[in-house]
Amino acid sequence: MTPFSFSITKKLSGKLGRVGVIHTPHGDIETPAFTVVGTKATVKALSPEDVRDLVGAQAVLVNTYHLYLQPGEALIKDAGGLHTFMHWDGPTLSDSGGFQVFSLGAGLEGKGEKRILGASQDSSRAFVRDETKDPMSGQRRYGVTKFTGEFADSSDDMRPRLYNKEIALQHGKLCILDEEGVTFTSHLDGSLHRFTAERSIEIQHAIGADIMFAFDECTSPTADYVYQKEALERTHRWAKRSILAHKRDYNALKSQALYGIVQGGRFEDLRKGSATELAKMDFDGYSFGGAFSKEDLKTLEWVNAILPEEKPRHLLGIGEPEDLFIGVENGMDTFDCVLPTRIARTGTIYTHHGKVNLLRTEYQRDLGKPDDTCDCYTCTHYTRAYLAHLFRAKEMLAARLASIHNLHFIVSLIKNIRRNILDDTYPQSKENFLRTYRV
Ligand SMILES: [Zn+2]
Repeated sequence: MTPFSFSITKKLSGKLGRVGVIHTPHGDIETPAFTVVGTKATVKALSPEDVRDLVGAQAVLVNTYHLYLQPGEALIKDAGGLHTFMHWDGPTLSDSGGFQVFSLGAGLEGKGEKRILGASQDSSRAFVRDETKDPMSGQRRYGVTKFTGEFADSSDDMRPRLYNKEIALQHGKLCILDEEGVTFTSHLDGSLHRFTAERSIEIQHAIGADIMFAFDECTSPTADYVYQKEALERTHRWAKRSILAHKRDYNALKSQALYGIVQGGRFEDLRKGSATELAKMDFDGYSFGGAFSKEDLKTLEWVNAILPEEKPRHLLGIGEPEDLFIGVENGMDTFDCVLPTRIARTGTIYTHHGKVNLLRTEYQRDLGKPDDTCDCYTCTHYTRAYLAHLFRAKEMLAARLASIHNLHFIVSLIKNIRRNILDDTYPQSKENFLRTYRV
């Protein structure tokens, strides 16, 4: 029995899109599909039964960076692996941790470009972790002022080099990049850690998800050409090392699939070059990384025209309703995105007329369904006024009911897209949806 395979059922005429099935040791994923995000081995506010029965999701994606820091991959392994630990017996994916290492550990914060600290000429400076106690709570706080060579995770060779000591000190967080990997501070307590391609695979083996991702350097799409090219070449070297690390563990090789991640920002030659390089490598599937906005979606076509057609493709971190159509047409098979649950927790729901913020005064006495065309658990039993009341009263049920609806909305939308491709009604159905849906 092949533990992992992909079969294409039907192609979307005139486009790169296709309908297929990904077979995993924990069941099939009928594609195109939306995989719900369960960052810390939980889909926020929902039980696995909610995710399966009320949302109708087929697969859950967890985050390697977060699970490594808390509770630690060793505990998940001892508990019998991710599926047993979180009580989800369907297909799972674990991302590589690359994006979080660079975004949460990066030296610059805020809405501006997150530039990575790294590749320094000066490797002679030493930095230490300092520890202070909060006078009020007595809790320990960590900050990095100088490096001593002591890492919280000491399983790997460490040769940290600092790019800009001042920025790191000023922000109290850092992300140090070198050829071998990344040294970063935990966003939880400031402690120092290190990921390499091999370490990321080792952690993902212990977590035990059906689909893993190779460790990549996730750059900002607005980064300049020289930097993107350098990062991309490093990502390709890490991709090769990720495959070797995976092949060294026979048990994992039999039960887990590994996807390579195409990077390259918005530069056509870099994206195409990345797809060409990765296509030569022995990956089970491919993923498109570094997409942050709709502008990045136009690069999907460049990449998917090159990647081997018979292997599945995942679009990392993008999954708004209007994006799904673009992604599917351009050959993506699976999607994930935190937005449906993130916006749900702050009172915003998807409807067939676009997004609605239930905290607006006009919904306080609105006794209509949250979305009048939706048949999910929330829309069947509750009104906009009731949800608005729960949000205003800061009741926990608010997040659960809104999350059930938003995930059901997205999961159903992509199931409809799949059905419409199969019965040749895709163009009309897309037009019907987008005619009323306002971004
Ligand atoms: Zn609903």
